[in-house]
Amino acid sequence: MNARTFLPLALLLAGCPTTGDDDDDAVGSDYGETIAAALWADDMTVTLDGDTLTLADDGVPDHAVLEAYGLMDGSTVGVLAYDYSMEIPMNPVMADEPTDTSLGTIGVAISGGVYFNPYEGDGTTVAVDNNFDVDGIPFLDTCNAHPLPSGTDFHYHGVPYCITDEVDAAGEHSVIIGVLLDGFAVYGPQDVDGEAPTDLDECSGHEGPTPEFPDGVYHYHLTETAPYSIDCYAGEVDVADMGGPPGGGGPGGGGPPN
Ligand SMILES: [Zn+2]
Ligand SMILES: [Zn+2]
Repeated sequence: MNARTFLPLALLLAGCPTTGDDDDDAVGSDYGETIAAALWADDMTVTLDGDTLTLADDGVPDHAVLEAYGLMDGSTVGVLAYDYSMEIPMNPVMADEPTDTSLGTIGVAISGGVYFNPYEGDGTTVAVDNNFDVDGIPFLDTCNAHPLPSGTDFHYHGVPYCITDEVDAAGEHSVIIGVLLDGFAVYGPQDVDGEAPTDLDECSGHEGPTPEFPDGVYHYHLTETAPYSIDCYAGEVDVADMGGPPGGGGPGGGGPPN
């Protein structure tokens, strides 16, 4: 009667997937190819090698930027080039617990610019809600974007209208406008009906169909209401790889506005 004894055990083992097995199903096998085929700017270097997407650029977006941006100290700064190269996993895995996004780059936009979380250098001031101008020169432009005080790291704190106005269609779900460092894609503010999504989680993400993933996939939305950008990574992300914010304005460090 050994067979009867062992069969249930074998079934139990086979039918008891680890968390990792479940998570491997988070995205399809062609996920990386689909993300790599998004509308990345012509001057960006987009390389898919296995499950790693490398995105490199000089950080100057392929859309118009202002000649100057206002800074907290009353001075102004123009957009300057710098070099970045980000390795992003194309086999993203939902984490057991979200990870707060940090100051500094949290993702890459199809323009060549990067995404920052909603906050300025103090970690609490919401950039989009605290715009100001220096003699008519705005802190954030109409694309919810600006560079660091150094001029580099041109970044978006909310819906990048200068991108979404070009790629999104009225009445339809937004299209991919970038990817966060955890590997999940970033979209503009439109759900499948073209309206704002109503079921976003604390990380501004949800599972559902998009133009590129009609069978549904977890993805983020930038939103026209708070938090505007992404407060947390829903996917597993190696915070050790993220480094500190460029410009040295660490959380709680009273650094420059980012
Ligand atoms: Zn969606
Ligand atoms: Zn900023």
